[in-house]
Amino acid sequence: MENRRPLIAGNWKMYKTCSEALETAGKLKDLVKDVTDADVMIAPPFTALSAVSDVVKGSCVSLGAQNLFWENEGAYTGEISAAMLLSAGCRYAIIGHSERRQHFGETDEAVNKKIKTAISSDLIPIFCLGETEAERESKDTFSVLDKQVTNGLKGFVTDELETLVIAYEPVWAIGTGKTATSGQAQEVHAFLRSWIEKNLGNMLAKSIRIVYGGSVKPGNIAELMNMPDVDGALVGGASLDAEIFSKIVRFDK
Ligand code: PEP
Repeated sequence: MENRRPLIAGNWKMYKTCSEALETAGKLKDLVKDVTDADVMIAPPFTALSAVSDVVKGSCVSLGAQNLFWENEGAYTGEISAAMLLSAGCRYAIIGHSERRQHFGETDEAVNKKIKTAISSDLIPIFCLGETEAERESKDTFSVLDKQVTNGLKGFVTDELETLVIAYEPVWAIGTGKTATSGQAQEVHAFLRSWIEKNLGNMLAKSIRIVYGGSVKPGNIAELMNMPDVDGALVGGASLDAEIFSKIVRFDK
């Protein structure tokens, strides 16, 4: 890994009430207070963002949102804007998670608009992509990823993407307990980095962080992090427990 700073991000999905989120965030903050060599982020549900922001303020734990909408404001019942997320203390926004694509019909075009909005609002986008099990089995992994990254990053110029994080999340590994092998993750990360090099230049390819997501646990993080193109992890289930997540943050069993 060049000089890229690892990012370990926790996606809490639709788990935790406000008080549960506060408790977990408070514990995590203490458990990782001496960590200086990685960025740590948690994405609680929207309802807990503000409260968790107060708890983690001044610590090494940053706050992220699990989604955003591309309009600034308006009659969009149930949606949330970048300005709202910033005012709740967010620095990051997860965009295009496979659960959003699968259950809420989120398209590559919507993902593209959301990444644009995040960037123009100074939120760090974590752009998720990945193939399904059927696509991997039919050997379509690279064509699927090529389409997702091409559509997701359509219309951007290199300078706009300095903060972008890409999360490779094979759908078949999310919440299933099946982790991609470190070799499988490396192969895809190298493919994505070479796509960036070809389309957006060598400098960005060297600096962009590409994190892996899909059943990451304390037992597999070290091996994944040993891969030259794996720059961190997006963690779902194992981020819900502060102790377990803090071990992942330390690349520790
Ligand atoms: C995720 O939600 O992004 C994820 C990777 O989930 P899990 O770690 O539970 O597989």
